[in-house]
Amino acid sequence: MDSSVFVFAEDLHGEGAERVLDRVRGYGAAGVTVGAVHHASRDVTPHGLSKLTTRHDGAHFPLPADLFAGQRLRPPVGLTETFDGLRDACRTRGLKLHGWTVFLRNGTLGAEHPDVTVRNCFGDRGHPIDLCPAHPDVRQYAVSLARAVARLGVDSVVAESLHYRPLRAERSFVPFGPMDAYLMALCFCDYCLGRAADLGVNAEAAREECARVVAGVLAGDPPAQGEVTRAALTAYAGPEVVAYARARTETVTSLVSEVAQAVAAEGSRLVFVDSTGAVKGYRDGLPTPGLAAHDAWQFGVDLVALGDLVPSFAVLAYARDAARVADDVGAYLRSVGKDREVRAVLRPGYPDSDSADRLAAKVRGVKAAGAFAVDFYAYGLMSFPVLERIPHALI
Ligand SMILES: [Zn+2]
Repeated sequence: MDSSVFVFAEDLHGEGAERVLDRVRGYGAAGVTVGAVHHASRDVTPHGLSKLTTRHDGAHFPLPADLFAGQRLRPPVGLTETFDGLRDACRTRGLKLHGWTVFLRNGTLGAEHPDVTVRNCFGDRGHPIDLCPAHPDVRQYAVSLARAVARLGVDSVVAESLHYRPLRAERSFVPFGPMDAYLMALCFCDYCLGRAADLGVNAEAAREECARVVAGVLAGDPPAQGEVTRAALTAYAGPEVVAYARARTETVTSLVSEVAQAVAAEGSRLVFVDSTGAVKGYRDGLPTPGLAAHDAWQFGVDLVALGDLVPSFAVLAYARDAARVADDVGAYLRSVGKDREVRAVLRPGYPDSDSADRLAAKVRGVKAAGAFAVDFYAYGLMSFPVLERIPHALI
């Protein structure tokens, strides 16, 4: 079974690439998935050079001039020497090298260019970290970024945040139900409206209906009950809103297709990371009931369509329960096609895994469900004792 450990650029700088790679090899993993482009964050890092690590939006390699010449959107400069010699250091240890790339989550670019960020039904550009996948400049940026990472000589480009994302307000004392939060996050920028209209959706009617429902809750109406499903959303907000939400899959599918082709043209291959599983179980490892594969449409991800376009998928299997993790992998394979590669991303420690046995049970479960690989998230965020569970799980 293939495997890898997610590693941040800061991990390599802090501890030294050689030592990190030796440890990963010692865990029995087949590769490393190194953060080539990452988003800003402030993380507790148990064995890092600093115990609280501030990450910045940035590309951790020198930008190829030809790819970004004349482009409005260029990734901020990060730790540009991260990949120097890394390919060879991996090869001498028999490790694969994958390039982990965060595409549309970038608060630095969003702050510099608010017009490329998502805009909600009220006209607010309230999500400056979320670049809209329908904006032509964002799409061009994504393709160039994918090419640049592929040129690092990586075995695959692991694409995170290459789809729409959910609402994340830092403070809210309005009791939104899941459907209210979903409606509040829908993008109604000119490009999203235009693409939906091209598909025959009454996009302006969808925006008005969305705004009417959310405004009601903001003004004191009771929040929606129950999870987001197409049927429940139709009953709550009407068919135009559902048609609008479904039209977003064309925007994402066509973008992923362009990115996958660009990666292949540079001699690498795309792994599409669907964040739905993280949205459902990130906080406590207790995901909401619907399987991630069945809810991916909410973020514009059409797994059946992508199955024809993308060679490999990563499922963020953030759950405590081994059976749930296996169920998620099984549902993915049924959606993308049995011949596609599905990788299960597992968290070896808190909040998903409380023991080596539990982690091992998950690895056995996803293997039995047909997963091609397991990836462990993430080196710098887990303590060394937790990382030591990996070799037991991979036996
Ligand atoms: Zn948009």
